[in-house]
Amino acid sequence: MEGEQIILSSDTEALVLTSKRVRYSSTAFGNASLVSITLDAVASCGFITKSNPIALVVAAILFVLAIVERGQIQLLLVIFAILCVVAFVLTRRAVLSISSNGGHSIVVPANGMSSDVLTRFIDTLENQKMGEAGVVASMPIPNDIVERSQIPMPEFDMPRCPQCRAADPVLIETEPSNKWLCESCRHEWNETAVADAEG
Ligand SMILES: [Zn+2]
Repeated sequence: MEGEQIILSSDTEALVLTSKRVRYSSTAFGNASLVSITLDAVASCGFITKSNPIALVVAAILFVLAIVERGQIQLLLVIFAILCVVAFVLTRRAVLSISSNGGHSIVVPANGMSSDVLTRFIDTLENQKMGEAGVVASMPIPNDIVERSQIPMPEFDMPRCPQCRAADPVLIETEPSNKWLCESCRHEWNETAVADAEG
């Protein structure tokens, strides 16, 4: 793509983040696959743990059976239950998951990558997406929105002096909150302090 730059790539370079898209190529079980998601289509990105809960359920059932059984069968059931728990732990894996609006998703086994690289990847991807949003924000505003913004807004409700109830105070400060000065009695007050006292 024109003007495309590689920002980050994983150690094996299977996962590549460019200024325009995320690309992941993998060869698993002899099948080569290449998934590419443009940055504007990235819906979510996260670091998740995938596990196989069925192994745990089986282990629980075996344990329950072991309680009612006696002798060698009981021993075997306990051994199988423990094996199921071990299988659950071993098959559990951390993955980096990036999904697109179109339904495609990139799932990268994280065991080949350090958590540092993964965190950096997610951060960079987010920043890139923010960058895209920034571009949208700096684009010229469409005419219909400009016209709509010219429709008169309901008038801002000016506060009254809490001391003498005179209207039209002068705004003398806006940081950290609005500070008003009453021109009739020279009273000064903070908007939030009054709002807190009243509310
Ligand atoms: Zn006043």
